[in-house]
Amino acid sequence: FTVGVLSEDANGERRVALDPDAAKRVIGAGPAVLVESGAGGRAWFSDEQYQQAGAGVLDRAAVIGGADVIVSVSRPDDAVLDSLRAGQVIIGLLAPLTNPDLVRRLADRSLTAISLDQLPRTLSRAQGMDALSSQANVAGYRAVLVAAEHFDRFFPLLITAAGTSKPATVLVLGAGVAGLQAIGTARRLGAVVSGYDVRPAAREEVSSLGAKFVELSTAISGAGAGGYARELSEEERSAQQAELSAVIARHDIVITTAQVPGRTPPVLVTAQALAAMRAGSVVVDMAASALGGNVVGSEAGRTIVTANGVTLIGATNLPARLATSASQTYARNVAALLKHLTAEDGSMRLDPDDEITAGVLITRDGRVVHPGVAAAMG
Ligand code: NAD
Repeated sequence: FTVGVLSEDANGERRVALDPDAAKRVIGAGPAVLVESGAGGRAWFSDEQYQQAGAGVLDRAAVIGGADVIVSVSRPDDAVLDSLRAGQVIIGLLAPLTNPDLVRRLADRSLTAISLDQLPRTLSRAQGMDALSSQANVAGYRAVLVAAEHFDRFFPLLITAAGTSKPATVLVLGAGVAGLQAIGTARRLGAVVSGYDVRPAAREEVSSLGAKFVELSTAISGAGAGGYARELSEEERSAQQAELSAVIARHDIVITTAQVPGRTPPVLVTAQALAAMRAGSVVVDMAASALGGNVVGSEAGRTIVTANGVTLIGATNLPARLATSASQTYARNVAALLKHLTAEDGSMRLDPDDEITAGVLITRDGRVVHPGVAAAMG
């Protein structure tokens, strides 16, 4: 089969679904690869590099026309969707649980949709395809750089002839993949770092990175299904918010990453907590989205300075701001999935009895075949 890669430039996207290395890997395993001219440009991959990897470089219409499978990073825009034909396969991070309209449209058009965010991540043989982890890793790193850019003091302890500067104090709320990478990155910049999460397993992971784990007196055990957190009750939530407020006020930088699959992100930083922070502090809300974030008042894609001088950043698509590394790691995930879906005779095999395939397959033959997504659509 033939794999197509399109240029994705909506909403500041700079990543590309296959880099030249991964394209070469895919071609080596059997499929042909067609790339839209310029598709890798914003991640610094040239058309020539794709050609050297053995891919064909064409215009958009020719790629769509020649490809059986389109691989993408984020959801394809309307014009692309309209130009796809029935039976064509689209692979990407489609966020089907929060995009019912898109799912309906993909089904109505008889497109086969495969979404990497529905991968059964706890399966060890799926780990090479775990795009949520690879992109969260990039985002956690980038979030610290964004915070540092907006913070008007040094991160490390510096002793110079002009005096001594105290290290910055960084608090990371939500210690999953992104949070742990943020903790490690802030430590490497010399900050004194604390981390917090509701999953009990996070305690040891935070400590092993040399950060302090924040213990709340109201013990909340938020472990849920599939290695994820569960949604807290109203009571647990307000106890958590109240106790975190005092901790937040003691820190210069707060980075929030908390997510619960298929739910609006939990509020961890209330307006009162924000108001109690010192002037010059920086808050990066990595959960900021149209549905809200972890911080009251954060706005997706915007940077606000509060009345008490706190810079509040509603971070969106941080991986697009480290486009080369994000593309390279995402492309490896895509190549691994394509390999998994390639049958011995070189055709694409979508076996509903295979746990990985069943996990990521969202629509097929005009129907929503993913039970979780179908349930979320009501
Ligand atoms: P995520 O993006 O869904 O959430 C980010 C973090 O927010 C999680 O650690 C979660 O526990 C935390 N969180 C949610 N509600 C919270 C609250 N009210 N207060 C504080 N923290 C809250 O998670 P993720 O990073 O994608 O994955 C979560 C964890 O599960 C990770 O440690 C990951 O390694 C693990 N996991 C492992 C596998 C695997 O074995 N391959 C697969 C899936 C997840």
